[in-house]
Parts: sequence; structure tokens; C-alpha cells
Amino acid sequence: MITLKGAAVSARIKEEVSEMLEKLGGAVPRLAIVRVGEKPDDISYEKGAKKKMESFGLAWESYVFPEDISHQDFREEFIKINADPQIDGILLLRPLPRQIDEKEIERLIDPGKDLDGISPENIAKVFAGDSTGFAPCTAEAVIQVLKANDIPIAGKRVTIVGRSMVVGKPLAMLFVKENATVTICHTKTADLEGACRNAEILAAAAGKARMLDGRYVGQDAVVIDVGINVDENGKLCGDVDFDSIQETASMATPVPGGVGAVTTAVLALHLVQAAARRAEK
Ligand code: NAP
Repeated sequence: MITLKGAAVSARIKEEVSEMLEKLGGAVPRLAIVRVGEKPDDISYEKGAKKKMESFGLAWESYVFPEDISHQDFREEFIKINADPQIDGILLLRPLPRQIDEKEIERLIDPGKDLDGISPENIAKVFAGDSTGFAPCTAEAVIQVLKANDIPIAGKRVTIVGRSMVVGKPLAMLFVKENATVTICHTKTADLEGACRNAEILAAAAGKARMLDGRYVGQDAVVIDVGINVDENGKLCGDVDFDSIQETASMATPVPGGVGAVTTAVLALHLVQAAARRAEK
């Protein structure tokens, strides 16, 4: 089985970002990372995003608000960040605390700065197959991994485990745009094992440590593991039991070192695209 490393895909995206930066003639796109509270997952994602921005030659700024900020106060602060002409793109770390109406914030964000595809306009574009918006970075990262490794998608049977608005559903739409035949699985799927084993490309986004073992993987399938979980020993792992698919899968992404590294590279790509679109206006 071939291990599909995220770093190689990220390096290719970096080249694309560098070319786009040259065209911007010295202007450095700026990312606003908006975090509420101190959740370790958010802090870790923020750290990864900052590191990636720096290594791609992009600027960033963190906006951190207390966990108990009221909806009204957060809304006002968010509107300011959204309107700041120095900011080209926004990454809002979610989920937000319960007192904040996340749906309202999703409606407020400028679709041109919405790098992670959370606004209704960008989501509608993903579902319409219109690539002028921004798809959620993780979903796009999965497609980038396949394309960077010259893995054909058109006509393939794809099974996705997970139907969230962050990964599963938008990913299904991106696969359909690439002419794949898609099955979406979730907790009520009757024969998960069969649906997964039937796939030529299996994308796991369930958030359950190593739940998909060798029984779920068809011969020569390509496995893309989106899951980021912590196992019973406190070790980072994916949704796929990597060791048990060695004999069946033809290729698979590891966790860590797979899709996660590509997600932040896609975020960087979206930031430069957002800056380029703003410069054109
Ligand atoms: P989520 O909102 O919890 O959604 C999980 C989905 O998986 C749900 O649709 C759920 O089905 C389904 N599911 C859960 N357990 C299942 C089972 N036993 N059998 C079948 N389906 C099952 O999670 P998410 O936000 O989409 O994230 C998924 C995973 O990706 C997490 O591990 C997360 O940490 C990771 N992630 C990674 C990145 C990255 O950059 N690599 C980015 C974002 C997320 P129901 O709808 O029926 O509940």
C-alpha cells in the first residue's frame, strides 16, 4: 500500500500560492483567525494555520474573545473584522459557544472573505457546482490529495462516511462535480461495511477512532482519512485502522500527516484567491 503524504500535496499548493503572490506584486494577503474561548482543538488548529501562513509567506492576525462573550458583543466585533479593509480572509473557529447564534454569524460573513465556506452563498455555490466561491477547506483538501497524486475520480464509486456540513456533504458535492458516483453514509446506514467495501475511493469523516478496519476496505481501494481523533492512549489517529488495511487498500492517507496538512494549505490558497479577487475589483 502506498502512503499518500499530505506534505507533498501541500508543497504543490505552495507553488501555486507563490505564483499567485507574484501576480499580486508585493501585497501580502492577511488572514484573520477568530477564536472564542480556549478549546485545545481550536488552539491546535490555529497554531497549524499560522505556521502554514508563515511558511507560505502570508500574514495572519488572531482575534481571541472570552468564552462567555455575549452574542451581541461578539456580533459587533465580528462585523468590525469583517469590514476591515486590511483583512483579505477570515477563519472562524467553530463550534462557537452556545450563547452565540452561529447561524447569524454565518449569514454575516462576507462571502468574499469566507475562506472556509460557511456562508449560505458559498455553500450554495458548492452545491451548484460553481467554483467561484470557497468550499470548506477540508472537503477541498480531499480532492486536492487525489488530484495531486493523479488518482482518477470521474466514473469512480466513492463512499463517504459522514454527512456534516463541514466535511461529508460538501465533499459529496465536490465529488459529484468531478463526475464520481457518490454514496453518503451515516449512523443510520444499514450496511456500512458493504457500502464502504464497494467503494473504489473511500473517504472517512466520522470522527471515530480507527472505526474502519480492513473489513470495510475493498481490494485496491484508495482510502482518504479525514478523521482526527485521540485514541485510548492519548495518541492522534484517524477513522481508519491504518495497519489493518495494508493488504487491501492500494493507497491511503495517514493520520497525522495526511489530509490535515493539506487543509491548511487550501486555507492559504483560498486566502490568496480572496486577495486576488479583491484586487481585481
Ligand atoms: P461530525 O459533525 O461529528 O459528523 C460526523 C459524521 O459521521 C456524522 O454525519 C455522523 O452520522 C457520522 N458518523 C459518526 N459515527 C458513525 C458511525 N459509527 N457510523 C457511520 N457514520 C458515523 O464531524 P465532522 O465535523 O464532520 O468531522 C469528522 C472528522 O473529521 C472528525 O474526526 C474531525 O476531527 C475531522 N476533521 C478533520 C479536519 C482536517 O483538517 N483533517 C477538518 C475538520 C474535521 P450522523 O449524521 O448520523 O450523526
